[in-house]
Amino acid sequence: MQLKTIKKLCCPFDKSDLDLQVLAKDTKQNIIEGILTCNACNRKYPIVYGVPIMAPDEYRQIQLEQPIVEKWKLEYDIADVKLLP
Ligand SMILES: [Zn+2]
Repeated sequence: MQLKTIKKLCCPFDKSDLDLQVLAKDTKQNIIEGILTCNACNRKYPIVYGVPIMAPDEYRQIQLEQPIVEKWKLEYDIADVKLLP
């Protein structure tokens, strides 16, 4: 996903702005892997294969998201990621 598109996204819970941690880009500088963090509620939304996984809490599948984050922790040496506050 393009950076300018990601910048337009907001938290589905409280509509606040999101901080982007970029983990991987493709050759066209599209964000392929990353983590969006809400400034207000501290929810985190992974970007997987260029697609931000952003759903309200009741539709999130943390059991599917968490293994991806665990892989990134090994791959990119990032700090622990708590998806929900
Ligand atoms: Zn939020």
